[in-house]
Amino acid sequence: MTQYAYFEGSIRPIDEARISVMTHALNYGTGWFGGLRGYWNAEHEQLYVFRIRDHYRRFLNSGKILMAKLNVDEDTLAEITLELLRREGYREDCYIRPLGYKAEEGIGVRLHGVRDELTIFSTAFGRYLQAEEGAKVCFSSWRRVDDNMIPARGKVSGSYVNSALIKSEAVLNGFDEALVLTQDGHVSEGSAENVFMVRDGVLITPPVHTNVLEGITRRTVIHLAQQELGLQVVERDIDRSEVYIADEAFFCGTGVQIASIASVEHRPLGSGHMGPITQALRNLYFRVVRGQEEKYMDWLTPVYVAERQPA
Ligand code: PMP
Repeated sequence: MTQYAYFEGSIRPIDEARISVMTHALNYGTGWFGGLRGYWNAEHEQLYVFRIRDHYRRFLNSGKILMAKLNVDEDTLAEITLELLRREGYREDCYIRPLGYKAEEGIGVRLHGVRDELTIFSTAFGRYLQAEEGAKVCFSSWRRVDDNMIPARGKVSGSYVNSALIKSEAVLNGFDEALVLTQDGHVSEGSAENVFMVRDGVLITPPVHTNVLEGITRRTVIHLAQQELGLQVVERDIDRSEVYIADEAFFCGTGVQIASIASVEHRPLGSGHMGPITQALRNLYFRVVRGQEEKYMDWLTPVYVAERQPA
């Protein structure tokens, strides 16, 4: 159970982390956020936060798009996060949510000259998508927000109305998730996750100019696929019907981790079961994030410091 939050400059009981109904970000969506995971390794008795600095770099960049003035750097954000997680004392997987927001209480839509605030909270967390081993997916009737509308590479609170429209339509129509197209009809991503497909042994994902969030997991998958599995990875536009005939496809993201796509609009992909490349990447990803791959320990930040041994 979540007990604490970083709020208005200090870590305090979560019940004290409250904002006014007049808050700018609540009225106008002028917030920006991040989403990180902490993975518990029982053998090491350690909680590892995955790619903390990369997440905070993107968080600060999202703030930059919204003209935020927070006066914190990645290192400070990481330190606050580690302190918060120590206070929570997790011995299980968790999710961390840094949220920056325009905190002014008053009327007036704009970005400039509005006070910014930072809060960070966390929660114990398991699966984001229940059907991680084989999701039934549709194409959304909605289009992905465009860079010239609400920049998709920023994790902007207001743009998550787009994600919510996409997700609810899919789930209420009996699917687990949706893929969403850009205005010109190419595949962008899922409601809150990036997407990859496999055709003839090549891993293909939409490029960063297709209104995707520049996912940390996407970057991780590209690296592991090339370096560890020796796969060719291509970033290029993907047509809707290419996904229908892909050998494999999967979502990736901090929340969804690596989730296999079993079918797209009632067309089973490949054998209809998780394909070998998705399986291999998924297995490796879980080993990396949980601290079971020595080579990738640099991507992990341990939360708990070892008790000092008596001299
Ligand atoms: N796209 C969107 C819209 C998202 O919200 C997320 C989750 N942050 C992702 C992709 C995946 O990004 P990441 O791998 O950095 O979590």
